[in-house]
Amino acid sequence: MVKKVTVVGAGTMGHGIAEVLAINGIKTNLVDVKEDILKGAMEKIGWSLRKLYEKGKIGRSPDEIMALISTFTSIKEAVRDVDLVIEAVPEIFELKKQVFREIDANSRPDTIIATNTSSIPISELASCTNRPDKVLGLHFFNPPVVMQLVEVVRGKDTSDEIVKQMIEFVRGIGKRPVLVRKDIPGFIVNRIMIRLLNTACILVKRGIYSIEEVDSALRKIGLPMGAFELSDYIGIDVLYFIIDSVRSRGMAIEPCQVFKEMMDKGKLGVKSGEGFYKYPSPGTYKKPDITALDRADPALLISPAVNEASYLLREGISSLQEINEATILGLGYPKGIFQYADEMGIDTIVNSLKKLNEITGSTEFSPDPILLRMLELGRTGTKSGFGFHEYFQENQMETIKILYRPPVAVIQLNRPEKLNSISRKMLDEIKKALIDLSSDENIRAVVMTGAGRAFSSGADISEFLQMSPEEMIKYSEYFKAVVESIEKSPKPIIAAINGYCLGGGLEIALGCDIRIAAESAKLGQPEVNIGLIPGGGATKRLPMLVGRSRAKLMIMTGEYISAQQAERMGLVDMVIRDDLLMMEAVNLCLKITSKPGKAIWASKVAINSGNSELESALFGILSADAKDKIKAFLEKKK
Ligand code: NAD
Repeated sequence: MVKKVTVVGAGTMGHGIAEVLAINGIKTNLVDVKEDILKGAMEKIGWSLRKLYEKGKIGRSPDEIMALISTFTSIKEAVRDVDLVIEAVPEIFELKKQVFREIDANSRPDTIIATNTSSIPISELASCTNRPDKVLGLHFFNPPVVMQLVEVVRGKDTSDEIVKQMIEFVRGIGKRPVLVRKDIPGFIVNRIMIRLLNTACILVKRGIYSIEEVDSALRKIGLPMGAFELSDYIGIDVLYFIIDSVRSRGMAIEPCQVFKEMMDKGKLGVKSGEGFYKYPSPGTYKKPDITALDRADPALLISPAVNEASYLLREGISSLQEINEATILGLGYPKGIFQYADEMGIDTIVNSLKKLNEITGSTEFSPDPILLRMLELGRTGTKSGFGFHEYFQENQMETIKILYRPPVAVIQLNRPEKLNSISRKMLDEIKKALIDLSSDENIRAVVMTGAGRAFSSGADISEFLQMSPEEMIKYSEYFKAVVESIEKSPKPIIAAINGYCLGGGLEIALGCDIRIAAESAKLGQPEVNIGLIPGGGATKRLPMLVGRSRAKLMIMTGEYISAQQAERMGLVDMVIRDDLLMMEAVNLCLKITSKPGKAIWASKVAINSGNSELESALFGILSADAKDKIKAFLEKKK
């Protein structure tokens, strides 16, 4: 639990971070090198708190909040007895290293040390301490009081426990944490931002668009600032420094030389009174007047940002939702970067990237493999219904939801407040949905999943209390019949196990043709804990997948197993990152539905029956339709 924090450096970021902490009732020590800097910082904090108080945005008085902040000119004194230190001194590697050593030497061994750096490797700062497991990045955005986002950056050695604690801490001070799982230069927001700004600059330098054309196009798609407005706002020198420093740490980006030329001329943007636009006086911001112009193609401008986001997703640096959130909260976009990609079309994004490679004669813009794979699968975005997100039409029933996007439908067990426990009503609705989907010619594959944190926690046992043994037998027969209708459905059904999958929930998943599970999923047959055995077919289907003794082990102990264990024993076929589970389930459906439907149906029937005469019979029946395909295949081989 973090009760007391020290912020080192009382500049632009440090004083803002201290203010955020005090607003949230945290005792804060603020350190800087000189008294007058600290005095100035406290004045700024006081001014800002009074404004917030007048607007009714804070409950306690500015004086009460200010009383939580103590100022120091010595790091040694300031860090002595605190739970967390947040370093916010200037972005100078040697200086930060020295400050880290001083913090390490003078603080308790359990004190967590965070840095607000934008570009220095966290792991290198961590190595200056004797506690690299307790060092991480907490990247606040400017101004900290206003900006909601904090990137929580994991260093090479940061422990899971510290990451967890710091995510909670960031939530506790009213901010939205986004976890950056690897210490990658530029983290998420800056990497995405500089792709856009640098590309805009290159296109202008090459005379393809004018500054106003670019900014007008970007404003038109809802970005809060055009690329050049934003560059001026950040400061051309700061922007060039960010691009150059991430490039020197391995990001494939060639800084646009116009930034350098402007820096050399002292045209630094708002702070110098002139950058790409002119301002009333140095440091006075006025939003540039831009005539609306329609010439620039927004997809050409934004595609490198999408490409970067795809790379971050593929590398597991952050999740799809987190990257969307980072662009909304960190860059003020009205929607996530992947939503933009889906709306513009993945095909358009890929073509734009190829065009940029042609224009620049480089490979910097080569489309990420994720984008190419999406194209292969026809996941072109909103127009096909599948992109980075799925765009389904819904049919809401009482306990389940059916999501349609031909050729795929999703049956979502939908009692999230009860972890999707299976009531009699739910069984009725699943049965009806299966009958409807079987006869729906547009639907060729089905995903079954759960809403919220669980696939399903099992049968709704509250219904058991009123049932006689005879009724329990009938209930079990009915449950098994529903699972059988999944198994016998003419369409392939994939279970996307998104969380707890227990008891009857697992029995439903066992009836599906293929099971894929999220990394965090837990599976089990815990009926023994209430003195029962599985009644929905697990005693038959579980041994078929995992062998008799393993099935007995699971059923007799009632213990849960992880998705990874389930995969090892053949109970699930694939384990997928949580945020990509639905995408992969749909990908699998699209892969299957791209094959001849009759062959898919026959595979299911033959495998389920285990009858080798039936296999031969189906093989023969299919051959009539297969002739043309065989001919085409042989032609291609010639
Ligand atoms: P700043 O120059 O405004 O403030 C830094 C403060 O640190 C100064 O007041 C300075 O006197 C003080 N300082 C220097 N040496 C010190 C020492 N040995 N002990 C204590 N204090 C010392 O810088 P800033 O813009 O607040 O940036 C701080 C950090 O935050 C940098 O790492 C920067 O990359 C990062 N950051 C900045 C922004 C931004 O928009 N300004 C946004 C995100 C992250």
